[in-house]
Amino acid sequence: MSRQYQHELHRATQKLLRVGAITKALGFVARERLGITQEAIAERVAAIEEERAAGGGRPTGLRCPECQRISPARHAQCLYCGLEFERRLY
Ligand SMILES: [Zn+2]
Repeated sequence: MSRQYQHELHRATQKLLRVGAITKALGFVARERLGITQEAIAERVAAIEEERAAGGGRPTGLRCPECQRISPARHAQCLYCGLEFERRLY
């Protein structure tokens, strides 16, 4: 793994941990102050994931036509196989 990708992976991991902490905090606040249950949140998460899977969600990356994996949209090439993107694929 190249140094650039290691750096990218580290940044993505840090962002993921931050999002996880924010999500957990929001869950506590929702339950304690608003009485919103874990089940209600889980239902909404499932609905969002279904919408995204159906193609209705905002794309967050580019799907590589070679390896089918998704790289962040700001990259000019696939993070996994190195294929150079010529244009936005979706
Ligand atoms: Zn690829």
